Amino acid sequence: MTTRLRVLDDGAWISVDNYREVRVSELWRLDSDEFCACDLTDLIVENFQTVGVDGSTVEVRVYGQCIACGASGTTGWIPVGRILDGSFTEIDRSVVRHPRPETNS
Ligand SMILES: [Zn+2]
Repeated sequence: MTTRLRVLDDGAWISVDNYREVRVSELWRLDSDEFCACDLTDLIVENFQTVGVDGSTVEVRVYGQCIACGASGTTGWIPVGRILDGSFTEIDRSVVRHPRPETNS
């Protein structure tokens, strides 16, 4: 069984098997040295760039802005949820997320 992951509405939603599961305008906390100089990035998610899956983990790259320092840009791959037994569960929104550097191209 394949899970279908798509970005909809010009980056406003992540769709999982045709259900709109994750939307922009949320605040995510990132532990990333690459995005900005803050110890923790308080990222306003403005736009989903692309979505993928690594094992059971659904990951996205997002365009957003750190509300603490104002830096903006595109992140590495950030976990957003998991596929378990064919259904999607979003990870807790309060967790600190660890972007994964791109491994190719
Ligand atoms: Zn910052």
